[in-house]
Amino acid sequence: MAELRSVLIANRGEIALRIIRACKELGMRSVLVYSEADALSLPVKFADKAVCIGPAKVNASYRNAQAVVSAALAYGVDAIHPGYGFLSENADFAALCEQEGVGFVGPAADVIRSMGDKIEAKKIARRAGVPTVPGSEGAIAEYREALAVASEVGYPLLIKAAAGGGGRGMRVVETAATLEKDLAEIMSEAEVAFGDPSVYIERYLTDIRHIEIQVISDGSTVLHLGERDCTAQRRNQKLVEEAPSPVLDAELRQGLADAAIALCREVGYKNAGTVEFVFDNIERTYYFIEMNTRIQVEHPVSEMVSGIDLIKLQLQIAGGLPLSLTQDDVLIRGHAIECRINAEDPDNNFAPNPGTIANFRPPGGFGIRMDTHIESGYVIPPFYDSMIGKLICWGADRDEAIARTLRALDDLVVDGIITTASLQKRIVDSPEFRSGDFNTAFVTELLSATPPVLS
Ligand code: ADP
Ligand code: ADP
Ligand code: MG
Repeated sequence: MAELRSVLIANRGEIALRIIRACKELGMRSVLVYSEADALSLPVKFADKAVCIGPAKVNASYRNAQAVVSAALAYGVDAIHPGYGFLSENADFAALCEQEGVGFVGPAADVIRSMGDKIEAKKIARRAGVPTVPGSEGAIAEYREALAVASEVGYPLLIKAAAGGGGRGMRVVETAATLEKDLAEIMSEAEVAFGDPSVYIERYLTDIRHIEIQVISDGSTVLHLGERDCTAQRRNQKLVEEAPSPVLDAELRQGLADAAIALCREVGYKNAGTVEFVFDNIERTYYFIEMNTRIQVEHPVSEMVSGIDLIKLQLQIAGGLPLSLTQDDVLIRGHAIECRINAEDPDNNFAPNPGTIANFRPPGGFGIRMDTHIESGYVIPPFYDSMIGKLICWGADRDEAIARTLRALDDLVVDGIITTASLQKRIVDSPEFRSGDFNTAFVTELLSATPPVLS
């Protein structure tokens, strides 16, 4: 394939805008598909061409593979960028693109399929010599099997849906007393949520960090852009991400990168991807948990410390260009922190908080990047993810990145709705975060602690 001349963006919100901007800089024509609910959105205004493909409901628009491919064919684009969420990890969609002769900005359909099945992905990881969390070898079909695995891995254990994602499809089992009931419930939940009841069991690790490796491959050269530390989570969903991780030494960092690259080689990975690990704070060892075969929400953290534009690389690779970088060209400099700003009320159990943004004033100054689709007067539709933007701050070192993040959160004005920014300020300002010594339970513990008295 020759270099892409035009790209269809099958997404919305900040990531649609992010991709449109990359297209503009590369001289590629951008065609955006959008739902009726997004007609007034910034990406619609910014794209060279915007096409409404259906009503607000995602299955009728952003998840409607046929509608997206039809638009791609009608507008003669060279490739489709799926962003994250929606169709980005849908192997059938990637196969449909292939069948219709439209490029797909991502790996081959069969790679998406095998990595999208977390059980299969763990098998591949083991084959590639990558350590995985102790647990079942494959799917657990019935209670007796679960019991046998439980006697080996011990309690608490975690039942995970093979098709789970977005922090959903996981259940902690504290004791044998509830194993049978939990297994049945999580299987039927997985069936309803993901259309696949397959589940597996992992040891539930309690003092861990989430550390992931950003990879980029043109199909022959596989490079990594170092790690992101996404330990600040609530309900297995990321709230604050940073790079580099405050806990890794050079040897562990190299081990993680080598493991990620070995996995990519094993499956013939092409395009951008993220290999996710949990890191055991006590043992100081890491275990593979899953691979996301797409661009990730928190990719700007890696961009800020490497100076490399991942979306542009994705588009160039999809157009058939080989990577013009080598691993030695990837230099990590300074520290970056991202806050995912959600329209949710942290004081009201994170209830989604759609509505009209009366006034928006983004933070600015040295080292600040705000990736967002909101503007003053924007009405947040209630149908989609509650993330309204990402604030990414770079500093020469971690302390400066923290100070800058706190300053930028103070600058930020989003009037008219409640956001998670106040919680992110608490997280980043806490002694635990500042010390770098915390685990995935930290945010929940912070939330259950008495809020600080404001003077
Ligand atoms: P990231 O690390 O990029 O944040 P997430 O797993 O949080 O990865 O997913 C990114 C986006 O995709 C979020 O908007 C999330 O809600 C959505 N998402 C991911 N997997 C699923 C899934 N299986 N079902 C529904 N939404 C998903
Ligand atoms: P998703 O597809 O929803 O992103 P992951 O498998 O990546 O699911 O897990 C999401 C989060 O759940 C991890 O970042 C980690 O905090 C937690 N988690 C996953 N596996 C385990 C485990 N075996 N023990 C403890 N926590 C885990
Ligand atoms: Mg994950």
